[in-house]
Amino acid sequence: MSPDTTANPIRRVLVSGAAAAGETLAFWLDRRGFDVTVVEKWSAPRSGGFAVDLRGAAITVADRMGLLPRFTERSVPMKEVANFDAAGEVVWRAEGNYAHTDGDLEILRDDLTEILCSTNSGIRHIWGDSIVGLAETDGGVRVGFEHAEPELFDLVVGADGLHSNVRALAFGPEERFGKHLGYYTAVFEAPDVVDMDSQMWLCTIPGAMASLVQWGPEAGTRGSFIVAAPHVRALGRAGRADQMRLVDECLGASDAWHVPALLRAMRASEDFYFDEVTQIHMPRWSAGRVALVGDAAYAPTLMSGQGTSVAVVGAYVLAAELAAADGDHGRAFDRYEQRVRPFVERNQQLANTAEEARIPATQQDLDERNAMIRSAMNSTSDHLDDVTADAANAIDLSVYTAA
Ligand SMILES: Cc1cc2nc3c(=O)[nH]c(=O)nc-3n(C[C@H](O)[C@H](O)[C@H](O)COP(=O)(O)OP(=O)(O)OC[C@H]3O[C@@H](n4cnc5c(N)ncnc54)[C@H](O)[C@@H]3O)c2cc1C
Repeated sequence: MSPDTTANPIRRVLVSGAAAAGETLAFWLDRRGFDVTVVEKWSAPRSGGFAVDLRGAAITVADRMGLLPRFTERSVPMKEVANFDAAGEVVWRAEGNYAHTDGDLEILRDDLTEILCSTNSGIRHIWGDSIVGLAETDGGVRVGFEHAEPELFDLVVGADGLHSNVRALAFGPEERFGKHLGYYTAVFEAPDVVDMDSQMWLCTIPGAMASLVQWGPEAGTRGSFIVAAPHVRALGRAGRADQMRLVDECLGASDAWHVPALLRAMRASEDFYFDEVTQIHMPRWSAGRVALVGDAAYAPTLMSGQGTSVAVVGAYVLAAELAAADGDHGRAFDRYEQRVRPFVERNQQLANTAEEARIPATQQDLDERNAMIRSAMNSTSDHLDDVTADAANAIDLSVYTAA
């Protein structure tokens, strides 16, 4: 049951964003006796995207939330990951999910969000709204909403993703903190391209990666592209037509592998997710009574494979530190930062080190990369997943009690 926090002067916390970071934070704050409100821009949990990974310390958090059985039940099967060249010849193939170690989970982002939101159904949510103003006073933060009436909260936490609205309002424009890694990604439904069964197929060509994924008999097939466009900026916030145009410009002339069929599927897709591959690096994750968590504060990108795990762990630590700080939010924010920043930095570095996620610009570099991956796949001592597993566990959560 919730501990007694009636003496704690921080009571009312507003969380912006109803996804991995926001819902994990809301869960733990609610458990610890805070009065939590979540505001989400969309009228229901935001869908779209691929499966995401829970690894290492994030599995510990899921376990402490009592959600591990539900996540495991909905985790997606993966019989094989195979990488093809432009002509459709297999470059390398691995059984199961080669990027996982025992205990890791892969779950559709939609399912993860749905489980978290339904678990938190007793927590107040404002759907279909967004913060438009934050004014800090001695007694709290006066929050203006696009639709709802203004309200006073003790603290506001932005868990609203890469293009965080709270970050823009309280810390400054995204350009100040974003490190564009030079790529854009698109994810979409891809029925009828090819028959698959619990497989992930990838094809890397110079400057781009295409993939097709099917997660078991009940799931449809989704396709994705990652395209190199280092000189194109801020297209993540543009309209769908401009975003598709960029993919077309990068790949429209390609006849590699299933790329033409994937492009047709993308153009016809209803559930189209597109974003820039940008990390967020901030010197500080809080200002006064406003803090950030997850991608809003420290997005590591999909190239790291650790965006969701880092967000879940960060949210857990922030809630624990707020509960332990006895009303001193400044102390809680300091300790949150001390504990989580080394973990974040380690995981952000994965985006630069995962060889199989790298997209070489030339055929020669691509051939060298493929040879390196093949050799690592065949080595029993040097698994590709070791670096990720180490980073995923690079934080000690035993200092926090499970409750
Ligand atoms: C639709 C979508 C698909 C994705 N697909 C993939 C994928 O395939 N692979 C991958 O590795 N990562 C993907 N990601 C990113 C991944 O979900 C995050 O890196 C990770 O889960 C961290 O989660 P987060 O809660 O910090 O941020 P996010 O998952 O980005 O969630 C942020 C939440 O805040 C909400 N929000 C945004 N602006 C506002 C606002 N102004 N007011 C209120 N709420 C707001 C969003 O709608 C969303 O619900 C995707 C993200 C999204 C939003």
